[in-house]
Amino acid sequence: RKINEKHDKVFVTGCLDPKVQQDAPRANAVFVVLARNKELDGVIESLKSVERHFNRWFHYPYVFLNDGDFNSTFKETILNYTSSPVEFGKIPAEHWGYPDWVDTNVAKEAIRKQGDAAIMYGGMESYHHMCRFYSGFFYKHELLQKYDWYWRVEPEIKYFCDITYDPFVHMARANKTYGFTIAVKELKETVPNIFRYASAFKRTHNLTSQGLWEMFVEPKEGFNQDGSPKKDALNPENLPKDDPKYAAEKQKPMPEDILRGQPGAGTLPDIDPEAMDGDVYNMCHYWSNFEIAKLDFFRSQEYEDFFNMMDRSGGFWTERWGDAPIHSLAAGALLAPSDIHYFRDFGYRHTTIQHCPANAPARQLPREPYLERTTLDEKARREEDEYWAKWDTEKENGVGCRCR
Ligand code: GDP
Ligand code: MN
Repeated sequence: RKINEKHDKVFVTGCLDPKVQQDAPRANAVFVVLARNKELDGVIESLKSVERHFNRWFHYPYVFLNDGDFNSTFKETILNYTSSPVEFGKIPAEHWGYPDWVDTNVAKEAIRKQGDAAIMYGGMESYHHMCRFYSGFFYKHELLQKYDWYWRVEPEIKYFCDITYDPFVHMARANKTYGFTIAVKELKETVPNIFRYASAFKRTHNLTSQGLWEMFVEPKEGFNQDGSPKKDALNPENLPKDDPKYAAEKQKPMPEDILRGQPGAGTLPDIDPEAMDGDVYNMCHYWSNFEIAKLDFFRSQEYEDFFNMMDRSGGFWTERWGDAPIHSLAAGALLAPSDIHYFRDFGYRHTTIQHCPANAPARQLPREPYLERTTLDEKARREEDEYWAKWDTEKENGVGCRCR
């Protein structure tokens, strides 16, 4: 909360006239979509939504990347859903798969074991490759070299609200580096040792926290997530039980309660807290299937050093490190809260998790926006879909920013 108030605001409130925006200067930016041919339907769903709610006015180009070859059906179909420039790229072998310093037998065995332990995607070799690619290589692809900014798009995403301003231009104006819309907790068993290595990187490079690292550290007793001491007045335990404020405060989830939410069924040995000066990872990470960020952050020597150290630890194979906690911890080590933008005004869903800023059915305004998210079961998703389909139709020829 402190971070949001102090450093970060919604860029634009209410709807702008997209026709006016149409003539405004553009950023040097691109949509990046990693996908496989078999994901075409999911990609179309995403493209429709991106175009419908944003890009029909802004016409930013797309780069599609694949470790294999896109077939002609994929390529031709994509072109039917956007009038923007589109490029299709193949990922070079040195950016995907095992590097030569890895003993592939050891790596494959580690992956097999993660499969046996039923770790989410742990037994899936290609998923490990994907995570490593998005952690250390996507920004090195030749098709991205000419760009300064990217917006990541995955199959099966959906935007709910019209986005009538240019987020890239506003990121640049506000001097932002990394933007997110959902932060969630990682499954602990996918990253049992990630924090040990990230902390070691921070320590060995003499990096002092610029205030963002604390967002990823389990708060110590009596302290808030941002490191500030808890105000006794707001701690319900310190209020008389008959005080009307007691009930009200008791009801509000404190950030740390939300963070402690959902521990994973840990099967790998836990991290040793002593190795990290007592810091423990709170498992929080920006959900990287949505990202708007400056490519220079990833291209920096500091990020390269961070990635190389993480990579050499073997954690992309011996564990199932996601690119989301990698990007997040890199940001924590290298960036300040003021470098981060929370797109709280973007209504966004990917599969079962969504962020919606306002009061559509079954939703409330977030009290703690950094951690707000909704997990939906199938029925809830269907209801939501119907609601938004109707809303989309009603707004087809106008502009709707009602979600905000
Ligand atoms: P989830 O969102 O974590 O469940 O993971 P996804 O299956 O959506 O994968 C994340 C992104 O990587 C999506 O854009 C996928 O299309 C892409 N992806 C995952 N595995 C592969 C792969 O083996 N090859 C290619 N080309 N893309 C992949
Ligand atoms: Mn996905």
